[in-house]
Amino acid sequence: MARLFSILFILVSCSQLRAQNYDYSIGRQIEKIDSFSFWLEELTSIGVRETGSEELNLAGEYLISKYKQFGYTDIKLDTFYYSDDTLYNIIIEKPGLDPNKWIIVCSHYDSKNSVGANDNGSGVVATLETARIIQSIETRVGVRFIHFSAEEQGLIGSNYYVKNSLDTLEDLQLVLNLDQLGGTLGETEGNKKIYCERDEAGVTSNNALSYLKTDTLANLTRAYSFLEPVISNAYSSDYIPFEDAGYIITGLYQYSDDNGTVHTSNDDLEHLDLDALKQVIQVALAGTMYFSRNTLPLSVGTTVIPKFEIFPNPAQDFVQLKLYSNEKMNYKIRSFDGKTVLDGTVIHQTAISLHDLQVGVYVVGIYTLNGVLINSSKLIIAP
Ligand SMILES: [Zn+2]
Repeated sequence: MARLFSILFILVSCSQLRAQNYDYSIGRQIEKIDSFSFWLEELTSIGVRETGSEELNLAGEYLISKYKQFGYTDIKLDTFYYSDDTLYNIIIEKPGLDPNKWIIVCSHYDSKNSVGANDNGSGVVATLETARIIQSIETRVGVRFIHFSAEEQGLIGSNYYVKNSLDTLEDLQLVLNLDQLGGTLGETEGNKKIYCERDEAGVTSNNALSYLKTDTLANLTRAYSFLEPVISNAYSSDYIPFEDAGYIITGLYQYSDDNGTVHTSNDDLEHLDLDALKQVIQVALAGTMYFSRNTLPLSVGTTVIPKFEIFPNPAQDFVQLKLYSNEKMNYKIRSFDGKTVLDGTVIHQTAISLHDLQVGVYVVGIYTLNGVLINSSKLIIAP
């Protein structure tokens, strides 16, 4: 029995390892997450960002100044009216190599009865960190960051955007919503978990791809954070108007047993679990990089991602690199600390001499000729 159990354990571990497939080009970017708690302090110090308040407008100006500072030039206000108030969704675009393909990463910036550290300052600063870090990275799919207004009044801003401002001709591949991350400080068990939210209701034609992409988000959670992903259903946040219109959605929401602080004056920085928030930001950034670089065949019927094989692995003097595509590609072999130690081009198959390299673990990456990472794999050089 014990033996069977250990075999099962090894099988489970192996399948999890396969699913995780750690990509150092994402891992290196995650190490750059360092500013969110400072921004959260600045954002919450503006005051209660109630819809229609001066504080909400000031928060909007604050966010715009941040994106300008990160180097973004394409910043738009999506203006709408609610009650007697003029309100703004804030839209920031980072175009991809394919001008018609987009993903949206969104987080509402209004708050209710509080300075909204958790709801939803946490989602806002997760979006800011993601935008800051991804700004200089080339992606195949464009990333549109949106901060919606009047979420708390019933998804008013996101409804307006989907019905009036969204270009229905573009290929919007995914909406990743970030709302209430970090959880309440002290909820140590609950804050080890993160809800990865999928579309289980409403329009049904988009559910299967939402399941698939949410599973991918859960795998990225295991690979790039200490959090345990919990698959849950999407509800009551800004992805819903997109869902209603047939788009593919997913979301992150922090599991916490005590939601007693939300929409009360206790939703402040003191009550927020910043360590847990950092972990979720790692997942948000990994997800944004993953889906925008499109390394999975997620968009059915568009592009087949060229796969490659390296053998033998572990290798000693030589390694063979074989592509399953007819295109000429570049390859790079990087050491564990990210330095490129060998590079070149390959068509079909090539033998690479490893004589000058030391024993150790390396990453082989396959790139298009203009430098877009297509796929990567670990290579072990054995003694
Ligand atoms: Zn919220």
